[in-house]
Amino acid sequence: MGGLFELAKQHDASCVMQTYARKPVMFVRGSGMRLYDDEGCEYLDFVSGIGAVNLGHAHPAVTAAVAEQAAKLVHVSNLFYVEHRAELACDINRLLGGGMKVFFANSGAEANEGAIKLARRWAGAAKPGAVTVVTTHRSFHGRTLAALAATGQPGKQEAFAPLPSGFVHVPLNDLDALDAALDEGAAAFLVEVVQGEGGVWPATPEYLLGAEALCRERSALFMLDEVQTGFFRTGPAFAHQAFGLTPDVVTLAKAMANGLPIGALVARDEVAAAFRTGDHGSTFGGGPVICAAGRATIAALEAEDLGRNAAAMGEYLSAGLRALGERTGLLEGVRGSGLMRGCTLVGIDAADVAARLLERRMVVNHIGAQTLRFLPPLVCGREEIDTLLGILSDVLEEAAK
Ligand code: PLP
Repeated sequence: MGGLFELAKQHDASCVMQTYARKPVMFVRGSGMRLYDDEGCEYLDFVSGIGAVNLGHAHPAVTAAVAEQAAKLVHVSNLFYVEHRAELACDINRLLGGGMKVFFANSGAEANEGAIKLARRWAGAAKPGAVTVVTTHRSFHGRTLAALAATGQPGKQEAFAPLPSGFVHVPLNDLDALDAALDEGAAAFLVEVVQGEGGVWPATPEYLLGAEALCRERSALFMLDEVQTGFFRTGPAFAHQAFGLTPDVVTLAKAMANGLPIGALVARDEVAAAFRTGDHGSTFGGGPVICAAGRATIAALEAEDLGRNAAAMGEYLSAGLRALGERTGLLEGVRGSGLMRGCTLVGIDAADVAARLLERRMVVNHIGAQTLRFLPPLVCGREEIDTLLGILSDVLEEAAK
């Protein structure tokens, strides 16, 4: 590794909080699906900044939109109207089918914090006494305290007790458990269409449709966390659209500005009306630079028809992984939707496999010791998938020895 990398590693160890086990590589440049390290070595990126760079790296339309707006005006706050904010909200409303209003935040956790606040505010008038937000085991909704309380992963929560109260966790895809949890105290149900950080576990269509019906029956908000599944990752603009669902609230972030920090809380008009002036806010949310990037991102995702590519390449990747599993017996449980795929390794360590893949210049994420996750940019093609599968086959055999 080069001197630039060694220096960054040293300074990181001495001055950056060590909340991540960083991989031994420093990326300095990217283009489409390709990343380049400080020595100019080329990698294929199957992580896309944890599902955030859906257009691929350094997309020229996003670069131009950011540069143009940054040269004009960067920040004045939400106290004033600015260019691009309302237009981006209109784009999101259109992609969701209309009748929605948007609050701009800066991350997925913040979008979910907003959703939790909105649910309580809404219930205050619509279902007095209801404060609970029901979520699922293994879910992930963010690292801030309420989003962490919503997250169904005790291992991430225990060190930070006491967490805010008012959260109930139920097993995913179990409608009876949800039926029991959605009582008179429940203000909302919040669920990922495909659990991402929990290991790429899809909610079934029957579960989602049943959950929506139960929420309507019990006067609880049906809230979807589409932070990871949004913006054509699974094929449609938003994953729930494949099942004809009508959520009351949708939370978004990650790919909305192709890797720049942004989040959004989106709610049906009647639900959004529960927030009154002064109820919620953000210094940076909805700024003109990030919103210019968001508009350029959505325009390019649509113009390049990347949802269609995500659906087709997702099937191709999934079939390739399944065939590899059948041939080697070293992976199973291929799952997911579009270009959000996961599989379980059999008898070999996923961290070890991911490290070996990185040495072979394939950037792949592992979740825990068993799961490999694939989240490439949506420009991913057959050739890149074939390259990955060939190298993965070698690496699995090596790791199994
Ligand atoms: N919700 C989901 C479904 C996520 O996958 C994530 C992040 O991985 C979050 C929320 C939190 O987003 P952020 O890291 O932007 O706060």
